[in-house]
Amino acid sequence: MPLLQTLRDDLDVLEAQHLIRRRRTVETPCAPNVRADGKDYVAFCSNDYLGLAAHPLVTQALQKGVSLYGAGSGASHLISGHSRAHANLEQKLAEFMAPNIDQARALYFCTGYMANQAVITALAGKDAAVFSEELNHASLIDGVRLSRAATQVFAHRDYAALEAMLKNCTSKKRIVVTDSVFSMDGNIADIPALLALCEQYDAWLIVDDAHGFGVLGEHGRGVLEHFNLRSPNLVYMGTLGKAAGVGGAFVAAHETVIEWLIQKARAYIFTTAAAPALAHALLTSIDIIAGEEGQQRRAHLNKLIHMFRHGQDLKVWQGMPSDTAIQPVVIGKNDAMLAVAGNLLDQGYWVGAIRPPTVPLDTARLRVTLSAAHTEVQVLQLVQAINRLDQMHYVAQCFAEV
Ligand code: PMP
Repeated sequence: MPLLQTLRDDLDVLEAQHLIRRRRTVETPCAPNVRADGKDYVAFCSNDYLGLAAHPLVTQALQKGVSLYGAGSGASHLISGHSRAHANLEQKLAEFMAPNIDQARALYFCTGYMANQAVITALAGKDAAVFSEELNHASLIDGVRLSRAATQVFAHRDYAALEAMLKNCTSKKRIVVTDSVFSMDGNIADIPALLALCEQYDAWLIVDDAHGFGVLGEHGRGVLEHFNLRSPNLVYMGTLGKAAGVGGAFVAAHETVIEWLIQKARAYIFTTAAAPALAHALLTSIDIIAGEEGQQRRAHLNKLIHMFRHGQDLKVWQGMPSDTAIQPVVIGKNDAMLAVAGNLLDQGYWVGAIRPPTVPLDTARLRVTLSAAHTEVQVLQLVQAINRLDQMHYVAQCFAEV
């Protein structure tokens, strides 16, 4: 069939470019020690930054949620799917974020991807001007595209370029969109600088804190607490499938913004509400994040980050300047990176292997993610495994072949 043949040809092109992605099937809970496709690994590739995905209190709460509310919500939020568990979670998140958001209200979404689409399309429209950071996550980019707003992309952390764009902007509806922690580089946007510009030029600042919520800030309130920010221009998106260990996402903003999203955000309105049990489990996750245990877990994670970067010399590859749990090691060519990641797998370490289009051409990289569930010994052993590749002149060989 010609249609199928076209797809097969396109898949062959991807294969030739070393861009075919393969899934490994995980047979154990998300934790540093996992079994996948029948083999045991120490995994450094999940976003379970605080180790809550398999935390006994969280999994017990999930089971309790099922016994209280059943398996599924059965409908969208605006019909009959909005359960007591969703309402409780939104209330808890609003109270949690209140120190950093004026008249805070929160809205729970099935995924961060949908939350980003929802918030951008609801706030922007054809008459809006959107200013989008070059390294933004795909879900922000897709939201911007879907909004059909006039869009300008500003270079990574180039806030002078953004200011020039804002100065020339004639639209009254201005929206700046940025990741907080860049998901493939691990560095942090200068949110105070962005917010100052947004206040000066009367623009919304949508912050995607997928990799900051729960991890940054003394109490885990993410990048807003990290920089001690509060402003009516802020619209905050935090995901709940990463540090919070469960799934879904939330937007926290002034109550008027949230009311607007409930009325207008299509990715909120036209989908079945997430299982209430997930929201019930998240009540426990937020308690842990906000409490003493959360502080201890963040302190341990920060110690591991410091160890990975400075404890032992990571040879050959200088990582990127990241102080977060995301530690990229840029290799360059796709096949070289796959060879390196494959060798680490053979040594028993599962590390994220990231290729274009997720990252720019010729910047394929290992994406090491650290978690409070890792031990110091595991992190030191990973560094040694990477250094062993260096001793084998592995990288030189890989580059010689391309
Ligand atoms: N934003 C960023 C920066 C992300 O890294 C991700 C997930 N990888 C998302 C949004 C989407 O979140 P979710 O996985 O909950 O859809």
